[in-house]
Amino acid sequence: MRVNSLKLVNYRNYQELELAFQPALNIFIGCNAQGKTNILEAVYYAACGSSFRGNSDGELIKWNADGGSISLGFSRLEVANQLDFAFRRDKRRTIVYNGQKIPLRELIGAFNVVLFAPDDLLLIKGAPAGRRKFLDMEISQASPAYYRELITYNRLLQQRNSLLKEIREGKSKAGMLEFWNPQLAASAAKITAKRLEAVQKFNMLANLMQRRISGNEENLSLSYQIKGMENGQLAENMEIWYNEMLHGLNNEEIYRGVTCVGPHRDDIIVSVNGINLKSFGSQGQQRTAVLSMKLSELEFIRSETGEYPVLLLDDVMSELDAGRRQQLLNFIEREGIQTLITATDEAYFQQAPLKTYFQVEAGQVKVVNKV
Ligand code: ATP
Ligand code: MG
Repeated sequence: MRVNSLKLVNYRNYQELELAFQPALNIFIGCNAQGKTNILEAVYYAACGSSFRGNSDGELIKWNADGGSISLGFSRLEVANQLDFAFRRDKRRTIVYNGQKIPLRELIGAFNVVLFAPDDLLLIKGAPAGRRKFLDMEISQASPAYYRELITYNRLLQQRNSLLKEIREGKSKAGMLEFWNPQLAASAAKITAKRLEAVQKFNMLANLMQRRISGNEENLSLSYQIKGMENGQLAENMEIWYNEMLHGLNNEEIYRGVTCVGPHRDDIIVSVNGINLKSFGSQGQQRTAVLSMKLSELEFIRSETGEYPVLLLDDVMSELDAGRRQQLLNFIEREGIQTLITATDEAYFQQAPLKTYFQVEAGQVKVVNKV
């Protein structure tokens, strides 16, 4: 995967910007609040159809403008493709892929990126929802069928939850649940199977990365925790198990008005040398583990799609010590991964051989030199 060009019109603090990217390291240098992250955000948007800063699309439009756009040219297995996003304050955004308007579900998987940003520490420290999202996005980028299954599951879940509330209020009969339970169980089993397979792969890949970065000191392990199941255990037939669980929980669920078992309640436990990182990890251990998980995403997507995604690194150099920085740059260079990276200081990159500097200042970008 390679991003070739980016054009922004009235996007964040850019009135109009056109950039051509290089294959190796693209380094965006500038002081705070100049527009470095905005560029990475736009590239990320083209892969995921939403910002990683969790904002509504309206916030992406330049202040005082009625609309804006992102246009991105990329190559997938050497074939050139074009994505265009148009934003208007009074309408939903539109996505156009190679000249054809598409819904979001057809975007996922078209263009692949892996982002590593300071907030990613929440992947370890935060709530389970963040870890589920991490896993879902990775699997979806490699498997659009999985993304469609997630949509199906969430729709079924919402319908079942509405029914639970109606039953609680005496507007529906409890027997009606039997209509939704088998459908939800079937979808849950498919999602769980894919997640278990992915976590097993991640577990191996992330541990390789962690050992490399920590100088063989630390072993990282990821395990998938199914709500309602003892640690690490699995039922012989997950669909039957979900069906039985959904059936057995009815009274508690009706009382609470929500579905209490299923992939929307699962978690991933991250541990180093057998110690749960969320509860006991040091800040540095957590940071290294997130880096390992992010680098393993690259390998995961490559193993599923045949090529590395584009790597987006926002402000991560200042967060790592010199040894870890060098390991990271060595890895990117050795694997030939196209990387867009932001920093306030050029000093971090002195050793890197193949690089292009972009100077970012108040919504203007200049190519400084090419080596
Ligand atoms: P830092 O080094 O602090 O991370 P940065 O260069 O990454 O800085 P960005 O987050 O890319 O900074 O850009 C921030 C700038 O964009 C700020 O000056 C902010 O006011 C401006 N900005 C954000 N949204 C909009 C918008 N919708 N319209 C115009 N300007 C915006
Ligand atoms: Mg920034």
